[in-house]
Amino acid sequence: MNELSEIIKKIQDHQRIDTHEAGILFKQADLLTLGQLANAKRCHLHPDPVVTYVIDRNINYTNICVSGCRFCAFFRSPGASGGYVISRKDLADKIQETLDLGGTQILLQGGMNPDLDLNFYTDMLGFIKQEFGIHIHGFSPPEIHFMADKFNMSVADTIQCLKQAGLDSIPGGGAEILCDEIRTKVSPNKCNANEWLEVMRQAHGAGMRSSATMMFGHLDTMDHVIEHLDRIRQLQDDTHGFTAFIPWTFQPENTRIPVEKKTGVEYLKVLALSRIFLDNVDNIQASWVTQGDKIAQTALFFGANDMGSTMIEENVVAAAGVSFMMPLESLQRLIATAGFTPRQRDCFYNPV
Ligand code: SF4
Repeated sequence: MNELSEIIKKIQDHQRIDTHEAGILFKQADLLTLGQLANAKRCHLHPDPVVTYVIDRNINYTNICVSGCRFCAFFRSPGASGGYVISRKDLADKIQETLDLGGTQILLQGGMNPDLDLNFYTDMLGFIKQEFGIHIHGFSPPEIHFMADKFNMSVADTIQCLKQAGLDSIPGGGAEILCDEIRTKVSPNKCNANEWLEVMRQAHGAGMRSSATMMFGHLDTMDHVIEHLDRIRQLQDDTHGFTAFIPWTFQPENTRIPVEKKTGVEYLKVLALSRIFLDNVDNIQASWVTQGDKIAQTALFFGANDMGSTMIEENVVAAAGVSFMMPLESLQRLIATAGFTPRQRDCFYNPV
């Protein structure tokens, strides 16, 4: 038996593969072999032919940011034209519209705005909870790390403070690639890989769940991708706090990283590898926002069991020139015509 066959046998026997084996698998296995292995893993974890989705809305409370990530077409520097901080009225209107559309949560994220004080965040959370009672999935690790730094608090205290004000769970954004060799090139002012993971460790320790993401296809290589997967898997072994893993490809339009966009095949291969490697993460999400409906539908046969959000509003990827939009009925149809039952879920993947 050659090395690839031994690795395939190991996966089929539900044994964990290491980073070296993941590298060989990715380099040597063809697309359909990866897909079959990932799909078998997905069917083992989720035997019912169901694909879940969540109805929510991205609310970007500010686009003013000092981070200056090279891949970001969304932010405005402090003082630049076009910068905003959301008004209470706009915030309330967006949440009400989400609830009217059957939404169960909001995804609340923003730039690292140096003009906001701690009360801004806690008041905003309190307002949302008091007025609407909706689940708040908010503040990715770089934002929490930025707040802790700015307000001279520990990460644990910052998380407690946000939790007490109404924060329910944490999105896994800002991970890009959890490898500082790449982070220092694409987002030098963001928290480093250890700091990102430490925010998640503290959040999980405080009883909060989170998702994990990976944006690949910029300056990274396959080794960086595997390192990222390994770091997520290691933390998940310790905390079991990640609900889902969401990989997507970098969208280069309007950004300062001049690379060619990854193809659908490259996306599907990484998605499949993620499903195979992350044996301790229950859910893998397809990214129709970045891949479009056809690849997202195909992703359901490459390890994904969740279609993510209906995205009533999405600004960050749209700023990078990608604006796939999908009404709820279209999302359900996409799932159904692939042979699965669409099922609405909440943030914790419970049926709604
Ligand atoms: S990705 Fe986020 S942190 Fe980076 S520049 Fe854009 S808004 Fe700021």
